[in-house]
Amino acid sequence: MTGFIDVERIESLLAEGRRADRQTVEDVIERAAEKEGLTPTETAVLLGCEDTELWEEIYALARKIKEDIYGRRIVLFAPLYVSNLCQNDCLYCAFRRSNEECARIALGPEEVAREVRALESVGHKRLLMVYGEHPAYGVDYMVQTIRAAYETRTPDRHGEIRRINVNAAPLSVEDYRRLKEAEIGTFQVFQETYHPGRYREVHPPNTRKGDFEWRLYALHRAQEAGLDDVAVGALFGLYDWRFEVMGLLMHALDMERVFGVGPHTISFPRLEPAINTPFTGYSRWKTSDEEFKRLVAVLRLMVPYTGLILTARERPELRREYIRLGVSQIDGGTRIDIGGYGKGPATVETEKEKQQFEIFDNRSLDEVVLELAKTGYVPSFCTACYRSARTGETFMEFAKHGDIKNMCLPNAILTFKEYLEDFASPATRLVGTKLIEELLRGTENGPRSALEKKIGRIERGERDVYC
Ligand code: SAM
Ligand code: SF4
Repeated sequence: MTGFIDVERIESLLAEGRRADRQTVEDVIERAAEKEGLTPTETAVLLGCEDTELWEEIYALARKIKEDIYGRRIVLFAPLYVSNLCQNDCLYCAFRRSNEECARIALGPEEVAREVRALESVGHKRLLMVYGEHPAYGVDYMVQTIRAAYETRTPDRHGEIRRINVNAAPLSVEDYRRLKEAEIGTFQVFQETYHPGRYREVHPPNTRKGDFEWRLYALHRAQEAGLDDVAVGALFGLYDWRFEVMGLLMHALDMERVFGVGPHTISFPRLEPAINTPFTGYSRWKTSDEEFKRLVAVLRLMVPYTGLILTARERPELRREYIRLGVSQIDGGTRIDIGGYGKGPATVETEKEKQQFEIFDNRSLDEVVLELAKTGYVPSFCTACYRSARTGETFMEFAKHGDIKNMCLPNAILTFKEYLEDFASPATRLVGTKLIEELLRGTENGPRSALEKKIGRIERGERDVYC
C-alpha cells in the first residue's frame, strides 16, 4: 500500500470485475445512468467487460451523459512549452536528461511574449504552460514567464490571454502559493502510472521524479496552498490501462475525502514516439485505439462532472469520436516544438529535437474550430468561471445543478462570437454564424433575448462579455 494506492485491492477488484456476469454489467450501466459517478467496484465491473454488445451500451450512455451535462460545447486551449531543461530521466520522454539529441531551450520573458502574440493573433484565450523540471528553472522562472504571458496583449486583434493553466513537476506548498499569487488557473500533474512497481521501472530512483509518493500527493499540497482547481492524469502505455483508470478513481476519491472536491479535469495522454526514445516503441502496455475508446467512455461514466482533456497527440478522426464519447476540452493549432508558434504557421516543418514527443493533429486552430462548428459543437474560449470565483467545490456544486449546460453554453456562444468577429476565416464565419443562429432559435425567449443583447454588444466592438 502506497498512500491511497492499494495495489492488491485494485488487482482484486479488477479480477472480480472480470468475473462479473452480464446482469451485473447491465446493473452498473443502469446505475451510471443516474449520473452520480461509480464506485471502485462498479468501475472494475465495466473495465472487466469483454462483451462487445455491452460496450455499445456503455458508449451510448457515455454519449448521452456527455450531451446531458456539457451540451454541445468544447473548450479550446493551446499548450505553450516554455522550457525543456530537465533533471529527470523518464524513459519515455525526449526531454530526459540523458537524451543528447534534445536541443535544450528555456524561453525568456521576451520569447514567451513572442509566442503569446502568435497565439493571441489566431484567437487563443486559454494557455497551458508546460515546463521540464530543473533547479535553475524553478518557481521563480515559472512566475516570471507566467507574468510575461499575462501581460502580453495584441490590441489590434483584441488578443489577450485570460487564463493560464500550468503543467509542471510537483512543488512544495510554499511554491504553489507563489503560483496562486501569479493567478494561475488549474495546476496539472500526471502521475504517469499509478502502479508503484512500474513507476520505479520507468523513473530511475536516483532522480527527483523517482519519488512516487512526492508525486502522488503533489495535488494535495496544491490544494493545501489554496489552488483549488487541480488536474490529474495518467500516461497510458506505461502499464495496464485498466489499472490506471482505477488509480485515477482512487486519486479523485481521496481528494474528495480530504478536501471535499475531486479534480477539476482528468488527462489521459497516450504514449507517443519521441526523438531518440526507443522505449516508446517497445513498451508492452501500449494502449490500442479500442482500449482507448473504452477508457474514455468509462471515465465519462465514472466521474460525470469532471472535465476530460484530449490533446493533439491523437489523430483528428479519433479526436472526433472521443469528443462525442465524453471529452470536454481539446487543444487546437498546437505546436510543441519550443518557440514554434512564433516561427509562423503550423505548415512550417516542426523541429523534432525541440519537442517532447510527436503529435498527430497538426491542423490550425481555425481548421479545428471549423470542423467543430460543422458538426454542431460550439468552440468555447470561455474563462468566466475563474473570474467569477466558480472554482473548486463551488464549481462542482454549480456543475451538479446542471448549470454547466445552462450557463456555459451561453458563455461558449459569446466567446465563439468574439472569435468569429476577430479571427475566423470566411468559411468558419459563415458556418459559425449559422450555428449561433440555430442555437438562439432553440433557446427560450427570456434567456434568448438576454443573450442576443450581449451578442449585440460584441458586434458593436465590446469584448470579454460573459454571464
Ligand atoms: N516535467 C513535468 C512533469 O514531468 O511532471 C511536466 C510534464 S511533461 C513536460 C508533460 C507530460 O507529458 C508528462 O507528464 C507525460 O505524461 C507526458 N509525456 C511525456 N513523454 C511523453 C510521450 N512520449 N508521449 C506522450 N506523452 C508524454
Ligand atoms: Fe522531465 Fe517531465 Fe520529461 Fe520526465 S516527463 S523527463 S520530468 S519533462
